[in-house]
Parts: sequence; structure tokens; C-alpha cells
Amino acid sequence: MDYSISEIARIINAGSPAFPDHRITSLLTDSRSLLDPSGTLFFALRTPSGDGNNYIASLYAHGGVRDFVVDTIPADASSMPQANFLKVPSVIDALQKLAASHRAKSGARVIAITGSRGKTTVKEWLYRLISPDLRVVRSPRSYNSQTGVPLSLCAIDSGTEMAIIEAGISLPGEMDRLESVISPEIGIFTNIGAAHSHGFSDIAQKCREKASLMRRCRYAVYCADNRLISDSLPQGPDRVGWTRLDTPGAALRIVRVSKADGSSTIDYHWVPGALSGQFTIPFTSERDIENAVTSLAVMLLLGTDPATIADRMPLLRPVRTRLDVADGVNDCQMIHDTFSSGIASLSLSLDFMSRRVTPDHTLTVILGDIDTEGLPAADVYARAAAMLRLRHIDRIIGIGPEINSRSSSLPAGSVTYPSVEEFLGSVTPDDFRSELILIKGSQDEPLGNVARLLEKRRNGTVLEINLDAVVDNFNFFRSRVRPDTGMVCMIKASGYGAGSHELAKTLQSQGASYLAVAVHDEGVDLRQAGITMPIIVLNPAVDDLNAIFDSHLEPEIYSVDFLRSLIAEARRRGIKDYPVHIKIDSGMHRLGFRLDTLPEVIEVLRSQDCVSPSSIFSHLCAADDPSEDEYTLRQFDYFERCCVMLRSAFPGRRILSHILNSTGITRFPGQQRDMVRLGIGLYGIRTMHDGSQDELRPISSLSTSVISVKHWEAGTTIGYNRRGILSRDSVIATVPVGYADGINRHLGYGNASFCVRGVLCPTVGSICMDSCMIDVTGIPGVQPGDRVEIFGDSVPVEAIADTLGTIPYEVLTSISQRVKRVYYRE
Ligand SMILES: *Cc1c(COP(=O)(O)O)cnc(C)c1O
Repeated sequence: MDYSISEIARIINAGSPAFPDHRITSLLTDSRSLLDPSGTLFFALRTPSGDGNNYIASLYAHGGVRDFVVDTIPADASSMPQANFLKVPSVIDALQKLAASHRAKSGARVIAITGSRGKTTVKEWLYRLISPDLRVVRSPRSYNSQTGVPLSLCAIDSGTEMAIIEAGISLPGEMDRLESVISPEIGIFTNIGAAHSHGFSDIAQKCREKASLMRRCRYAVYCADNRLISDSLPQGPDRVGWTRLDTPGAALRIVRVSKADGSSTIDYHWVPGALSGQFTIPFTSERDIENAVTSLAVMLLLGTDPATIADRMPLLRPVRTRLDVADGVNDCQMIHDTFSSGIASLSLSLDFMSRRVTPDHTLTVILGDIDTEGLPAADVYARAAAMLRLRHIDRIIGIGPEINSRSSSLPAGSVTYPSVEEFLGSVTPDDFRSELILIKGSQDEPLGNVARLLEKRRNGTVLEINLDAVVDNFNFFRSRVRPDTGMVCMIKASGYGAGSHELAKTLQSQGASYLAVAVHDEGVDLRQAGITMPIIVLNPAVDDLNAIFDSHLEPEIYSVDFLRSLIAEARRRGIKDYPVHIKIDSGMHRLGFRLDTLPEVIEVLRSQDCVSPSSIFSHLCAADDPSEDEYTLRQFDYFERCCVMLRSAFPGRRILSHILNSTGITRFPGQQRDMVRLGIGLYGIRTMHDGSQDELRPISSLSTSVISVKHWEAGTTIGYNRRGILSRDSVIATVPVGYADGINRHLGYGNASFCVRGVLCPTVGSICMDSCMIDVTGIPGVQPGDRVEIFGDSVPVEAIADTLGTIPYEVLTSISQRVKRVYYRE
């Protein structure tokens, strides 16, 4: 895009800018994503996770940004003499208005995609299928929100012939807004998930909301076999339904699907054109077939002939949007992005990387060939080089024939290799040390082997943590409290076993108010990983006050002796007003002050100015047990009396109070006070089974791979002390996890089952230290290398906890540190 600021002011109905000639070529909504200040217009959005207004001064002073859209002129505007402030009633409305106008001016055809899943796959596949014929832009990654959609549309330029835009919603009313911004010609509804979601009264309402994307479309593409979807489509668009069940009225009939050797051949009849055709895709899953058929319907609608379709379909590849983060060799951290390798996608990966920078790591990017997306390759590589320079990448390695031939356009010092093999033949893991490494490959030259070379732990056992599910769970609880209620996230015990660094970074980005850890080592560790937000230490010890002050950790105060030592150390260091958190024992009887000991704390606090109470809090002991609600209510009363006592002793000071844990948030929202403390719910574990927490998503899965498969006759015994006795001829698989990995021995002897090829397979005999055996009799084709899920989608952690007579907290925190953790974004 290229506008003068005065044109933009006119479009969004803001007053005339002071400097009307500034040219705007890119839009920014998150200050951390700033790349090139010249030509950037910053939209100061207010969202639950942050307030853009707080970043204006620094974007001006350090970022060089000169143009801002705001709803209030900043108080310090006079210190930014060269800035344009475009004042509007609503910043998000202004962004959407600008995008709508930009879209309306362009001659590009616009396709919009909604649905519960498959949006990103259909978008990427349509891009692959259409881009040989037309200049196509598409939403980067899954930019489908109220801000992502306008930003995606602004990528349309004068040469764009088609835009493919994803639209996602989480609340009623949002699709209407997106529709008016996108005003698509073709609307695609991929499918609808059965899950009920917060904000919608039922699935039919959610379906109608999504379908309102098609309100003014010329064509609506959807699955005619899905009654829920076809009933919810608005009047108006021509219906282009596809069917596999001969549903009457469907425009596209799937005549036959035959699967063989990992591919599916699909025969179809296109009623409007009286055409029949056949093509093959290199997939067999029902989801992939559904996504391919949806893409087929669009291609036919665009008038593509069956022969061209048959040529292009076999070239489709799975769309892996996953972005993994894992420990690398020699203290490296690795980010492996397997998504498409266009320039917009590279920009997002670099952005993700920049949020993981720590003081101890240098920055390395390993880049495959870039998908030029129809643009001149020289321009694309020049833009990539500019991005890498702006992000101050220390070391750049290019791998692939194209990037190798363009090494001269990369920043000085870059090293390139024509292929992964050449790279693997010339470097060893020891060539990498204390680096944050982004690996960004293309579809055709996958860099998976490069990632494997640099991984710290290469055994097949892995605890995978879905950071998007963490964000969803965080937002679930956030939606249950007032917008101004602070969220304290408990990442003690190494994030309930999930590992704390990545969680902390994710929660810091989401706008959590505090993190809380159990012991100060955990806090020091987070500081070393680059976490800057406030951290509370719940069980601080007197023996290491230095760590508390040096790492700026905020201790819980549960004894007067500890308070006195802390004050003495603060005084020695000449510190004033160091924040501390006063713990009240309202009924747990573990740690904290009671009403009779609180006056002494108050007296000590009032006698000095080195430390100062920032919050007062207490912990519920039976929030999840309705039969103890009377006790819980007494805890609330008791806590309130303590709050009153403490606050009245410090009349001029704002002291926050908080008592609710995860279960408390859903059960006693009236007690949310200033902050809530979110623990187990963040990790997707339900503590209540009354439907109130059904939207929580599990965040982790523990899996490994089969290492051996053997046939044994009935009567054979398996494992130590011959405790597994086979009652029939059996097939037994050995898997490399044991009690040293955190697999409790009580899960042996058939007490637990692990999932292989979709089937639950009971354990046989004792769990050994490093391995155990499972019964895979009757499951066709089980072989070494098959994935074994210990818990995750098929086996909930809660089931394992029930078997062991314990709680999920203990199962999660028992997974040993030797198990590799991989974090990913979907
Ligand atoms: C662990 C903990 C929490 C979180 O409890 P959940 O039940 O996991 O939500 C809250 N407050 C304190 C003091 C804790 O120790």
C-alpha cells in the first residue's frame, strides 16, 4: 500500500494531520513487530492483553515512527513535535474502515473462508492451485481476527488479481464486522465443529454467525451434506454445495473416492458445467479429502478446466502451520517453523523469534528457498535481506538451490549451501553454541533434518505443549472475569511440569499481570530466560535474599521474621518501597497470617519505608468441593476482614487483593477482587465436571515410539519376576519409557493403556526403569517407529490420575526432566 497520511485521515474521518505529506506504506498494531519505521502508521489499539497507547512515546523516540491513530491525544504529545496524531472515536473501527476502503479500490477478486477447521489448509491449497494463473495474496499464517483480517487485506497491491482471506470469530457480532471489511465475492464455509463455545447460545447460532460472512457474496461454497450449514446460509448468494451422499440440489457431486497407497483418487461431476473429471491427491484422511473437495468446488467455479485441476491437485502438500520450540545442542534454543516460506510468513517467524531473545543468546536464522509467490525473485530476496538486517540477525545460513545462487543479495557474512545434504556434510552440532536459531524451510526443501541435527534430545519420547491451547485457556478464564481484573499465572513446579520458559513468554505476550513461582531459583531462571514481567515467589527462603533482590523477585510474606530480614537487606542496599505480597491464612492452615498476628506485621511495615505491601492474598483449600462451600464462604469473610485491617493501616496506598484459584474463578466470580490466580486451568485440566469448564483444551501430550514388536505364544511371561503372563498368543511391543521418565509403576500390569494406531493397548507386566511392554495383538501393521500416546488426545491425563488414585497435578509434575519438551503453535 502507498497512501499519503492526509488521504488516510480522510478515509477514517480523522482531522487534518499536521504533516500532510508523510507517506504510509505499512500498518502496525503491535509495537514489537516494528520493522521499518519509515512509512509505518501505528494503530494504538486497546485490547485485553495490552494498551497500544503505552508504546507511542517509545515508538517515536526509539523506533522513529511518526504517524499514529489514537482515540486520545497522548498527554506527552508536545514531546513528539514531528508526529501526526489522527484522532478517531475507535481505533479498531478506523483500521477496519481503512482496510475496507483499500479493498474496495482494488480490482482484485476476493475469496473469504470461514469454518471451525480447515480454513488455513483450504486457503493454502487454493493459493497453490490458483497462483499459476493469477497474482494472489492471502492471509499470512492464520491472520483471521478483527485486526488480522484488515492487515491481510492491506497486503493487496495494484498488481493483485485475487485475495484469499481467512475469517475467524469468537463472539457474536464479529462476523458482521469482518464481512463489511472483506465484502467477499466467494464465501467458503469449510465445516462446523460440534463443540459448544462460550459467547454463543448454541451451535446453530454459531453456525448462522459464521454463515453471515456470505450475506452479500455472489457464491457460497459449502458441504451440502451438512444440514446445519446449509440451513444457516443466508438468502442471496448462489449456492455451490458439494455432496458425497447425493444430496439433491448440490452443484458438485463426488461420484467416487478410492484410496490406495497413501493417495486418494476422486471422481466428480460438476452439474452447472455438465463436466466430469478425476484427480488424485497424495492424502487419504477424510479431513484432507474434504478440504480438497472444497478447493475443487472453488476451482470449478472459477472456470478451471478438469485437466488443469488434475495436473495441480497431486502437487498439494500437507499444510503444517506448526511452529516448534525446543532445546537445542550446546545451550541453543531452536524455533522450527514448518509453515509456508513466503515473505509474509518469514516476517511473522522473525517477529516470533524477536520475542524470545535473551541476553545470553546470539541470533541465527537458517533459511530455505523463499517462495516468491509470483513476484520477481530479486525483489523478494532483497526484502528478506532487509528484514534480516532490521532484526539484527548475527548469523545467516541459506540452504537450497535458489537461495544459494542469490547469496550475494543476502547480508554480508551469510553462508549458503545448495542442499540440505551439503549443509549436513559440512557442519556439526558443535558449530552452534548459545544461539537462538530460527529454522525456516520451504515446502520443497524441508529442513526437518537440519532441525534434528540441532536438537538437544533426540530420543523419540516427547512432551508436546500446545502454546495456542495455553492462550485459549488463559482467554477462557479472562472472559470469566472483569476486563480490569489482573491475571496472576502460576508457573510453579516448572509450569506444572510443562516447562516454564515458553509458558512465561507466551503469558507475558498475552498480558498476564504477574507470574508466580514456588521457589526463588525458578524466578532467577525465568529472568535468565529474558522474562521481564513481575514475578511473585510463594515460598521464599531467608538464606538467599540476594537472589530475590538481584533478580527483582517479589516475595510472599508469611512470617514476621522473614519480613524483618528482608527489610534489613533492603535497607543495606538502600532500596525504597520494594514490593511484597502479604499472605493470609484464611483456612488452609499452611502458611500466612491470621487476624491476631496481622497487627504485628502492620506495625513492622509502618515503621519503615524499605518494603511496601503491593498485595494481600489468601488461598482456598476446597474451592472444587461444593460440599465444603460453607467453609469456602467463611474463608472469603475472614480474608475480607484481613484486607480491611491492612488497608486501613495504609490509607493512601493501593493494595491489591486476590484469593481465587482456577476453580474459584468459575465457581465464585463475585470474589474476583483485583486479581485472580490461575493454575491448573491454564494447563487445560478440568477440576469441575459440571460443564462449566468444558471449553478448556488439554495443552500437553506425552508420546514415544515403538522400538520392538514380537510375537509370543500363550503362556509366555513378560518382564521382571514373570509378572506379565500371556493368556493367548500375543503381539507385544516394547516402548522406551519407564518409571525414570515419570511412568508410575502402578500403571503396569494392564492398569493403563497407551494408544497406538488409534487403539488402546494395555501395559503387560511391570513398568521397567527405562521401558515397558504393551499388548498390540490384533492391531494390523504395528511396527517399530509407530507413535505411542501415553496421554493426550486419546488418553486424558485425568484418566491416568484416576488409575493412580491421585490428581492430575501430580501426574503432570512427575514427568522427568529427561523427557524432551517441544512447544508449538498450531
Ligand atoms: C498453586 C496455587 C494456585 C493455583 O491453584 P490451581 O488450583 O492450580 O488453580 C493459586 N494460589 C496459590 C497460592 C497456589 O499455591
